Amino acid sequence: MYEYGDTKLHIVEGDITKMEVDAIVNAANNTLLGGGGVDGAIHRAGGPIILEQCKKIGGCPTGEARITTAGNMPSKYVIHTVGPIYKDGTKGEDKLLYNAYYNSMKLAKEYKLKTVAFPSISTGAYGYPKEEASKIALRAVMDFIDEEDYIEEVYFVLFNHKDYELYEELLNQTFKEQ
Ligand code: ADP
Repeated sequence: MYEYGDTKLHIVEGDITKMEVDAIVNAANNTLLGGGGVDGAIHRAGGPIILEQCKKIGGCPTGEARITTAGNMPSKYVIHTVGPIYKDGTKGEDKLLYNAYYNSMKLAKEYKLKTVAFPSISTGAYGYPKEEASKIALRAVMDFIDEEDYIEEVYFVLFNHKDYELYEELLNQTFKEQ
């Protein structure tokens, strides 16, 4: 566990659908109609109510975020955000990825949520280089805390050990572990 101001930051290796937090974040696509990777896992675990609510929302621009219930999952809400498809790094990908994290934090705060779990947005099918993406993720979360408000606990949930180690190194470099 790491501390940044009044926020506790955690890294977890595992499946985000199992997280018992106020909101898990989904790396969705612009349609919000489901897909592969973490998006598919969330819709499968949460059940059809999530898709029903997503259809009513009607899509989400890249870098923005929308919220639904979490259906059958132990969390209360799903914050659906859309990260960029990585092309060559010169198409504003960094700002869009940053916005995806920042706007997810903002929405969590609007709903008065205390605990939020993020997957590694854009680093699967969307091809964002993982090390760069992890730095942007952490920067956006820290900036939100500095500029807006704290959230009690933020979890970075990594789906494999290599990704976990990458975050562990980044957080160890950035903070002293508590
Ligand atoms: P994107 O299209 O934004 O790249 P993906 O779902 O393809 O989204 O991948 C994003 C990240 O989510 C990848 O690092 C992948 O390993 C991870 N991932 C896939 N399934 C899960 C899951 N059930 N829980 C947490 N992370 C997951």
